[in-house]
Amino acid sequence: MDNIRIIIAGPRGRMGSEAVKLVTDTQHFTLVSAVDHKFDGIMLSDLEGFHSIHNVPVYNDIEKCLQNVEADVLIDLTTPEVGMYHTKTALSYNVRPVVGTTGFTKTDLEELEGICNEKDLGCIIAPNFAIGAILMMKFSQMAAKYFNDIEIIELHHDKKLDAPSGTAVKTAEMISAVREKKQQGHPNEKETINGARGADFEGMHIHSVRLPGLIAHQQVLFGADGQSLTIRHDSYNRSSFMSGVKVAVETVMKQNKFVYGLENILD
Ligand code: NAP
Repeated sequence: MDNIRIIIAGPRGRMGSEAVKLVTDTQHFTLVSAVDHKFDGIMLSDLEGFHSIHNVPVYNDIEKCLQNVEADVLIDLTTPEVGMYHTKTALSYNVRPVVGTTGFTKTDLEELEGICNEKDLGCIIAPNFAIGAILMMKFSQMAAKYFNDIEIIELHHDKKLDAPSGTAVKTAEMISAVREKKQQGHPNEKETINGARGADFEGMHIHSVRLPGLIAHQQVLFGADGQSLTIRHDSYNRSSFMSGVKVAVETVMKQNKFVYGLENILD
């Protein structure tokens, strides 16, 4: 397999530091640079936790990075605001983005798809890189053909910035594509405390739990007369996401289109 030159944005983050490990441990990947808003003009080896990683310059801005470094792929694991800027800038330099950052809006995704089509360039945005989570979404979509009363409960660590999670939104979108439309609950139901019924996504409900100790978990509850079905996925550590990141990096080099969701590149 040809060598793939990679930039990682957000290398000190919980996901970013796992991605640094993945890239430096993979024979046909080369980490050529890192983008970190707090550091500029240093080497990654100067930063705590990366002392053994040599020859990787750090830039505080993606544009500066792309002007100085030849790369094939940008892996972005930052925040939605800066992630969108990073993704657009990478595309403008013909560098293919693999984005794990969550919280992009529908408008953001449409804009990125437009740029990819215009430039005939690959870009993969995946709200969840865990293969088990992709299966959880696919199984939920299968079940939604038979059960149209659905509650999604996503549970994450309390440092997460966006709610509901990108995975919950993606699950709701996939379910919505096959679910017979229905406004769930009693037609006259009334929240006595605001938000008690969670977020309303086309009549089904999404609940976001935030607790220290959690990583990334989701259960999808289906209810019908006299029965229920629960589909649940748990990520117990962030390395659970890395096999998906690896597949996405390899795939984005072969595809010239915009892809939203890892399920669209897995067999
Ligand atoms: P994190 O630990 O907070 O890491 C985010 C990193 O981005 C930090 O290094 C942070 O630096 C940096 N950052 C913040 N603001 C920035 C800016 N303006 N410019 C450049 N860098 C900036 O978060 P995480 O848990 O790694 O998650 C990162 C993203 O991945 C989130 O959007 C999260 O929801 C998503 N995620 C995706 C998956 C998936 O499978 N797709 C799984 C888990 C998480 P500072 O520390 O200096 O602020």
